[in-house]
Amino acid sequence: MSDNNLFDKIVSHAKEYGFVFPSSEIYGGLAAVYDYGQNGAELRNNLRQFWYLSMTRLNQNIVGLDSAIFMHPKVWKASGHVDGFNDPMIDNKDSKKRYRADVLIEDHQEKIRQKIQKEIEKAAKRFGETFDAEMYKSTNPRVMEYQQKIDEMDSILKEGLESGNLNLIKELIENEGIVCPISGSKNWTDVRQFNLMYSTQMNALEGGEEALYLRPETAQGIFVNYLNVQKTGRMKLPFGIAQTGKAFRNEIVARQFIMRMKEFEQMEMQFFCKPGTELEWYNYWKQARMKWHLALGTPQNKYRFHDHVKLAHYANAAVDIEFAFPFGFKEVEGIHSRTDFDLGRHEEFSGKKLRYFDPETNESFIPYVVETSIGLDRLFLLTLAQAFTEEQVDGDTRTVLKLHPAIAPVKCAILPLVKKDGLPELAEKIYNDLRFDFNVFIEDKDSIGKRYRRMDAIGTPFCITVDHDSITGNDVTIRYRDSMQQERVSIDRLSEILHKETDMSALLKQL
Ligand code: ATP
Repeated sequence: MSDNNLFDKIVSHAKEYGFVFPSSEIYGGLAAVYDYGQNGAELRNNLRQFWYLSMTRLNQNIVGLDSAIFMHPKVWKASGHVDGFNDPMIDNKDSKKRYRADVLIEDHQEKIRQKIQKEIEKAAKRFGETFDAEMYKSTNPRVMEYQQKIDEMDSILKEGLESGNLNLIKELIENEGIVCPISGSKNWTDVRQFNLMYSTQMNALEGGEEALYLRPETAQGIFVNYLNVQKTGRMKLPFGIAQTGKAFRNEIVARQFIMRMKEFEQMEMQFFCKPGTELEWYNYWKQARMKWHLALGTPQNKYRFHDHVKLAHYANAAVDIEFAFPFGFKEVEGIHSRTDFDLGRHEEFSGKKLRYFDPETNESFIPYVVETSIGLDRLFLLTLAQAFTEEQVDGDTRTVLKLHPAIAPVKCAILPLVKKDGLPELAEKIYNDLRFDFNVFIEDKDSIGKRYRRMDAIGTPFCITVDHDSITGNDVTIRYRDSMQQERVSIDRLSEILHKETDMSALLKQL
């Protein structure tokens, strides 16, 4: 199956099984805005909870926060978003489509990377067991030429973005012969900057007409509350503040389903530490965050680190965690060492001291910050893409979401074999016993086989069939989603089995 095909299948599966719907669909939808359905909301809550608990429960020195979406307009001046939260955009004059110039270039680089990969695979076949991929990459002239091309593009892109000389980026697009994916033409406009913040007006705002913004990131809510939390929580450095919440960006090109949306959710943690220790913490969080991703069961080779080409002027290290989506490796999470930039700017703009008093040294200073920032919706898409599996079973295709049981929307389906002879009543009793601890689902329509398949399609790890013997023997058949094996278990053991496999603590213990 081609990767495009796979992606289309995942998108339609998400809709068909109540995970993701286009926003306001009866009015034709709203570009790049989506709603989460009955199963999507559960999966999303579970992912959010896994993140939040891993931050706040597993770390004595990390606490939560829930700050408002609206913030004082000066926050966004101080943070640099009013002046600098721009993306370089370019239009194709023939298709009239607008693109992010840097993304066009990155996509082009990815194609070259794929060529390198093909060369390596061909050579690996030729040389057999003795093949050394690293050696091949550093000696094969064609591969070296490709790599050099990628590196050159990186440095031109970096120079163009950092110096603001957007002509360099346009020239790069032209010189590389990058064409519009729609029209196939190279008829480009100049590259221009475009601010991504949505603005509105709060008419009761004292002092006039300053624009009010929908927050483009959750981090600033943490920065402006840092001293409140530090003082009221009597926090000592190093410590962290974690929050999840909506963010809004007027993305130039919203594409790839929930990958790039105008309204999305972030999960961010700002870790405040002593100046000079930030790179140690940066490395710590880089590893810790990768471990968190792997705990969900995704193999290591689906992830990679990607160092930032363009470091923001205030950052002294930044890396993305990328995942192999069906459309290529793309960012899911960023880990950034932001120095004292944000707190320093808020001190300057608010006129309020935001210093930490260190009782050990009797010194006051602005802490340094390492941030981890992940998009919940991208994580959701990653999770769906990773879990989506098609298998041949008895000449039929079984579609199953192999989700980790702790994040599956429904933990267990209770299925009475027939709608009579007391089976629905016994199923109802089991349901009533389990519902306080687990999201359980009960259904008596259609054949058991069909009901199993519907549960496979939403990733339900366990199905329990209640049959006539259940009434006399007080036991049921439990069927495991991935192996499809079935066994007979006592009804009294159900809760224990479900707890063991589906509790979030099983996931947290891996960290
Ligand atoms: P990109 O380069 O893809 O635009 P970014 O570097 O601007 O992302 P950050 O500002 O670092 O992203 O935001 C942190 C995380 O928030 C990203 O890693 C991503 O998971 C998520 N995110 C950012 N923008 C969007 C969006 N428009 N839709 C969905 N998720 C997003």
